[in-house]
Order: sequence, then structure tokens, then C-alpha cells
Amino acid sequence: MFDMTNQNTNGLLNNSVEPCSPTVAEATVTEIVNGETKPAKQFKKRTRRVREMNPDGTISALSAWTRTVSISDIHRFMECPGAYLMWAEGDKPGERTVGDAIGQAVHNEIAKPENERLTDVTKLLKSVPETERAQVAEQVKTLIAKAAAAQDRDEARSENTQKEPEPMVWFDSYTKTWWYAKPDVMSLSGDSKGRYLLIVDEKTTKGRRRNHSSAAFFFAIVARESKALGFTGTIKTVIRYLRDFQGNILEEPMEDSRFVSGRALNERHEQELHGIQATIKKMDETWESGRFALRDGGHCRGCQFRMSCPKNREWLEARQAERLAAEGARASVANDGETVETQVSGNQLEAA
Ligand code: SF4
Repeated sequence: MFDMTNQNTNGLLNNSVEPCSPTVAEATVTEIVNGETKPAKQFKKRTRRVREMNPDGTISALSAWTRTVSISDIHRFMECPGAYLMWAEGDKPGERTVGDAIGQAVHNEIAKPENERLTDVTKLLKSVPETERAQVAEQVKTLIAKAAAAQDRDEARSENTQKEPEPMVWFDSYTKTWWYAKPDVMSLSGDSKGRYLLIVDEKTTKGRRRNHSSAAFFFAIVARESKALGFTGTIKTVIRYLRDFQGNILEEPMEDSRFVSGRALNERHEQELHGIQATIKKMDETWESGRFALRDGGHCRGCQFRMSCPKNREWLEARQAERLAAEGARASVANDGETVETQVSGNQLEAA
């Protein structure tokens, strides 16, 4: 079993959420939220659920697949199919991590025109512990300023700039799925070599992950195939890192730029595309079976569903039972000590 010693087990038994233990046969396609019946994927508001684990370590689907995929879906599925299912079926996530809260706040604010941005960003940081909130708010303000300045520079040499554009959609006939992609910024730009479609993905994390470049590639493919902004030429993707490897906010963002041809894909890009399609085929098979494995590991610490996931709850409950047993044993040793002392005193009195 993996090490989850940093997880908080307090409040575990105080969960008032209704348990949910569907089997594939019992699965329903629609659910009722606020009096309205809707497919699970269309929920604006997510539903609090505590799922039960099947004996084979999986959880069961409640609904049929909508056959839509985003790159986050793909990454989530690769890390833990169970976490992907909970996200895809509209389960309510638990508390966000501080890093997630920062990323969300920065993305929300830079998408707005400057005069509409919040002056007090602490409102966006309610999930951050109060003791850290003021310091985190300062970081968010600096990150917004840095990202906005970089966007302004892009905008000055581009046309048709779209911040937080509508999602691009493309139907992939090989996997028979709809691919959705929503970069932070998209525009028509160019340099001395010619025009290109610029796609920017901003990152507030200190880590540089393989996932970041595969997300940028996915955006480029959907843009290329859907002819985003009516453009059919080269696509330039930019991953814009706002922090260094130690987590310090960079004076000038670090950019990782790549190009994808609007004509034929090169061999490396062909392979990358086949890799994405192979993963989607696995997703399809898993939806077909209706059973999604709960793949635990170090990533559980940052999982949005760690408090409702049955596998993680099992681990947390076992740790809580161990703690209670240890406390009970300590109390019993202390009581035995007192009893012995009382007996010794009684014997001493008798002897006297
Ligand atoms: S806590 Fe771990 S096993 Fe459970 S859903 Fe999240 S990643 Fe998967």
C-alpha cells in the first residue's frame, strides 16, 4: 500500500453524504438535481457522492459515456480511471489544494478585461487556510500582473486575440469521439517566417511536466482539424510558465514553444497522435465494461476525490482505527500503573 501519512483523517467519520453503490445493471443515465432531470455530464452543479468499491477494486459507472474527451480527461484517466469517472459523472470534488486555488484564481482574472478584475482577490481564495490567505493573495496578484503583461505583448503583435475562447471541438472518426480543447489564449500572429495560429497555455505551477506538452499538442491538433479562427496554416503552441523550478515568480515568464504543421504531421507528431487515440480506445473499453479501477499511489494526496474515494476512505479509516487503538493502549497502560500504585499503598498500610 502506498504512503499517505500526510493525509488528514480528522472528520472522516463525520461525513453526512448519502452513500452510493450502483452496479452496472442499476446504472441510470439521468439524475435529478434541483428538480431537473439531466444527463450527468451536463451538470453545472456537481453532486456529492460517496461511491462504494467493487470487490475487484473498481467503481461502477452510473451513466453511459457521452463520447467527449478533453486532454484533462485523458490525463486523469491515465493516472486513475476511478478519479476520471467521478469527474466525468459530475461528482463533487473535495477541497481544492492551495496550488489549484491559485491556478484557478489567476486564470479567472486574466481572462477578464483589466477594469473588471477584482481588486481583492482574497474572495477567490476561500479554500486557502486563513493563515496563508493574505500571502497567497499577494502571489496571485503578482502572477496576474505577469501573465497579463505577457498577454498584452502577444496581443500587440497579433490579430483576433481571444482570451478564454469558446472550446474548439473536433470529431475524431478513428475513436468516434468528440475532442474538446480550451486554451487560455488564441490569436493569429506571425514572425519573419510567416503567419501562424498562436495558442497559449499559462501555468502557475513550478513543475514542468510531460502532461503540459501533451496538452499543448492536443490543443494544436483540435485547432488544426477544426480550422480554428478559419486558419489552416502552422500552429504555434506556447506553454507559459510563470514560476521557476523553486516556485519563485519569474520576472519574465519562461516559454516552451513548439510548432505543428498545418499540412502533414511529422513522424513524432503522428506517434503522439496515435498515443492519444490508443488511450481513448482504452477509455472506450473501460466505459464498455462499466468498471473503473481505483489506481492508488502518491497522486492520491492531490486527488480532488480523496475524501469520497472508497479506496482512500478505506485507508483513512484503517489509519484512524490504528490511532484509536494506540490511544486506547496508552490509556490502559496508564490505568494499570495507577492500579499497581494503589495496591502497593494498600499493602504498605496493612504491613504497618
Ligand atoms: S484517491 Fe487515489 S485511488 Fe482514489 S480516486 Fe483519487 S487517485 Fe484514485
